[in-house]
Amino acid sequence: MKKSAYEVLGVPQDAPLAAIRASYMALALQWHPDKQHQQRPADTDKAAARFHDINAAWETLRDPQARAEHDRQLASSSRLGPLHDSVNIEDMDFDDALDSFFTPCRCGGRFLLSITQADAGVDAVDCSQCSLWIRITSEQAA
Ligand SMILES: [Zn+2]
Repeated sequence: MKKSAYEVLGVPQDAPLAAIRASYMALALQWHPDKQHQQRPADTDKAAARFHDINAAWETLRDPQARAEHDRQLASSSRLGPLHDSVNIEDMDFDDALDSFFTPCRCGGRFLLSITQADAGVDAVDCSQCSLWIRITSEQAA
């Protein structure tokens, strides 16, 4: 699940703007591309992505209207829908076009788990069309 702007900046949701600004300044300095001296290009990319997220989060929270909208979205997404099922990843189908495992939902939508998510250890995915979600297990025979 995508991090909220508050999580990105490490501040509580009711933080005053001054506190958010202070946290943003510290993080932006820490993750600024000019400050990165990573050995591996992949780490540099990660730092750049982090820096981008930090700036995007600040752009959202500094604007009262954007912040209110973000809060509204958080309120609706934090109510995780009912658990539909537990599915072993071995039992899911694979969609080559989407590079994702999938299993159908009873609403006609699909639960999609991309290879990237699977590699990252994501173990719960939402239906593409309704509020149901499934837990994904991966008990592999040793
Ligand atoms: Zn569904």
